[in-house]
This record gives sequence, C-alpha cells and structure tokens, in this order.
Amino acid sequence: MEKRTIAEPYKIKVVEPIKMTSRTQREAAIQAAGYNTFLLNSKDVYIDLLTDSGTSAMSDNQWAGMMLGDEAYAGSVNFYNLEEAVREVYGFKYVVPTHQGRGAENILSRIAIKPGDWVPGNMYFTTTRAHQELAGANFADVIIDEAHDSQADHPFKGNVDLAKFQALIDRVGADKIPYICVAVTVNLAGGQPVSMKNLQEVAELAHQHKIKVMFDATRCVENAYFIREREEGYQEKSIGAILKEMFSYGDGATMSGKKDCLVNIGGFLALNDEALYQKATQLVVLFEGMPSYGGLAGRDMEAMARGIYESVDFHYIQHRIGQVRYLGEKLANAGVPVVNPIGGHAVFLDARQFLPHIPQDQFPAQMLAAQLYIESGVRSMERGIISAGRDKNGNHYYPKLELVRLTIPRRVYTYAHMDVVAESVIDLFERRHSIKGLEMIYEPPVLRFFTARFKPLA
Ligand SMILES: *Cc1c(COP(=O)(O)O)cnc(C)c1O
Repeated sequence: MEKRTIAEPYKIKVVEPIKMTSRTQREAAIQAAGYNTFLLNSKDVYIDLLTDSGTSAMSDNQWAGMMLGDEAYAGSVNFYNLEEAVREVYGFKYVVPTHQGRGAENILSRIAIKPGDWVPGNMYFTTTRAHQELAGANFADVIIDEAHDSQADHPFKGNVDLAKFQALIDRVGADKIPYICVAVTVNLAGGQPVSMKNLQEVAELAHQHKIKVMFDATRCVENAYFIREREEGYQEKSIGAILKEMFSYGDGATMSGKKDCLVNIGGFLALNDEALYQKATQLVVLFEGMPSYGGLAGRDMEAMARGIYESVDFHYIQHRIGQVRYLGEKLANAGVPVVNPIGGHAVFLDARQFLPHIPQDQFPAQMLAAQLYIESGVRSMERGIISAGRDKNGNHYYPKLELVRLTIPRRVYTYAHMDVVAESVIDLFERRHSIKGLEMIYEPPVLRFFTARFKPLA
C-alpha cells in the first residue's frame, strides 16, 4: 500500500524560540527542582511534554477573533458566538461558560447530586471525581477491565462495562444515580476511546432507568476520530457528523476548552434540560460570573468558539492523532515498553518494564522522567506511585500502572521534535541498567506529585 507522509496541516507564521541547554545546566536544574519535573522552570525546558492542557497553539483566525472581544459585562457578542458553536458542532441546547473544565464540573455536581448519591464513570479524572465527592456522591468505576491492563489490546479501551453499570443500578437503586459520567476519551487510561455502539447502549440502559448521561467531553474530537478509524460504518462520515451523533446520546457535558477546543483557557457546561440549565445559571453567578461570560473575557469566548469549528477539521485531527502515534510507534519499534494501544493525546512509558530493577517505592517513573530531562531537556510527568498518593493509614497506594506520560500539545511541535524525543528515550533505554532509584525528601500532605522533592539513591 502506498503510504505518503502526512505533514503538518499548517504553516508557521509566528515562532517562539526554544532553548537547548547543556547537560551540566540540566543536571543543576533538575537538582534544584528536587527531581520533580513539575518544579522545573519552563525556560529550562527544550521540548515540553508535561501536558496538553492549555498548551495548544491558536490559529491566525483565533488570534484575529481575540481582537474582536466584546468586553461587555452582560450579553457579549462573543458569548452568542460560543453558544452557536456549541449548538452547531456539539448539538447541545444550552451553554454556560466557565473559566475551565473544573468550573463546569463544580456546577454540574452541585445541581445534579444529592448527598449519598452514586456517580458511575468510565474510570475517574482527578478534578471530576473530587467535585462529585465534594457534592456528597460516591464514585463507582464502571470501565471495562481491559482499561486497567497496560498491554491489553482493545480498540475501545474506554468503553463502559454495561454489566458493571447494571450491577450498580441493582445494588443502590436508580433513584440514587443522578447521572453516569462518560469521558471521551479516557485520560487516565491513556487517552483511550469509547465506541459509538457503547455510547448507544449506555444511553439506552441509563435512560430506561431515568438516569442522565453526562459527558466529560474534554477530548471528544479525538474520540470521534478513533470511531471513524475503527468502528464499522463510520469510515465515510465526517468528524462533525460523528461528534454530533456521539452527543445525541447524552443530556449534557462538561468541557475543558484547554484541550480539544484549542484554547489556552476556558471551558463550559452544556445542557439540554431547561430546568437544569436554570439552576446552573443561578450557581454560575456565585462561582464564575454572569451566565454570559462565566469567568472568561469576551476575547477568550471568541477564541474558543473559533477553536470548536477548527477542531473538527479532518486534516487537523488526522495529523494530531498521527503525530502522537508516530512517536508511540517509533518507541515501540525500538523495544521501549509503552502502553498499548497508543491513545489520543499522549504516549505512556511503562516504567515498571523500563526500570525493572527499581522497586516501586524507589519511584521508577519519577526517576525516569527526571533522567529523560537530563538526557535531552524533554519534560514529561510521572503517573505512578507518587501521583497515586497515600491511603488513610499513611501507606503508599501501589498502583498497577507505573507510567511516565509524554503529552503532545496541539499544533505546537513538528515531526522532527517527535524524532528528538524518540531518540532521547531510546538512548536512555539503552543505558537503563545504570539508572538508580530516588528517595523522597519532602512530601506535601495532598496532591504530592506537584511539589514533592527527591534525591537520588547512592
Ligand atoms: C483537564 C481535564 C479536566 C479538567 O479540566 P480543567 O480545564 O483542567 O479544569 C476534566 N476531565 C478530563 C478528562 C481532563 O483531562
């Protein structure tokens, strides 16, 4: 089969220089940062793969929109443009802007959850679950078992296990389940998608019991692309049509615009139910701002509206997913252990297999991220024992997955950058036996991965 290179579907109009540093400089920088990549100054980073959140490059069209910001306190033109974009592209009726995704999660949790309720979800996300629990809900993981296995090969590893969902309904009663939260794609499972068939079946079961379906829509366009690629009957459909069908099975969504809406800040809550929307408008004034700005400047809403249209362009999303996969396959072909299949927004290194000689309580993923920085100036992040934290008795949780996440920002880096990242990881893999573990020398009480400090073991 003829296979042509898919080049970046953009040309570069403004450049931001990035700085290469020497190994000596990087050794000093990571030491000063306590071997924690979150504590590095971004000026010391060469290629920054810490996160895809708010790190996208906006287009000339979005920047032009920024100049058309209508900074009115109420009824800004840009709000109506955003509302129209969400109606047209996502198909939801009502939109409440928020400063970012968690602002929408806060409002949805407060208007929909009663203390003692249960909220099932296809795996959890940190802020989403925290807001559900803050509102008094218990979280129940109803994702398929394959999602918890780094090597299980499944085209839709983010799918909801209908038997687990049904069992929860039987156990606690449907009246205790206000909604099921369906994330598309599933971040913590490695950016894994949910199939259209699964969405249909989840909606059918939920609605049969008067349970609402609320999407965590954060990476919905990436999910739509995987459906087009992998699910029978969708190969000829547009990304926009697939996205509309996905959301037709839901009653609303929380959105972090910092991911698939291609902006640096922003989010929204989308709803179809008018009564629920009225409640949301009452709360948004308390936490975010007027229902027509929700903590955002007019210019930010305009950029997000334009980003929503751009995000469903086939060439954009094909390149986006292709670039992530290119890096993942390059690593896998060199024998580097990565999570399979490669997800939508990141490549995950399996630190357990990469550094089998380092016990989990000497923080192999943390050290791998630090060593990758020293090797090349590439910044990644730990998703393992440090991120998992401690249980009530003060013991570490020992998660099954001990990973390093290489997250690709949207429209920011080129294939050459991916080559540099791959070469750096492969070089590190070749000298993996010389890498030793870490000792934690400072540990904050909560969300320790952000600020904990380490030193290398002798
Ligand atoms: C980032 C993210 C959120 C939260 O959004 P913020 O804009 O960071 O507040 C929620 N869910 C998922 C899956 C995310 O990746």
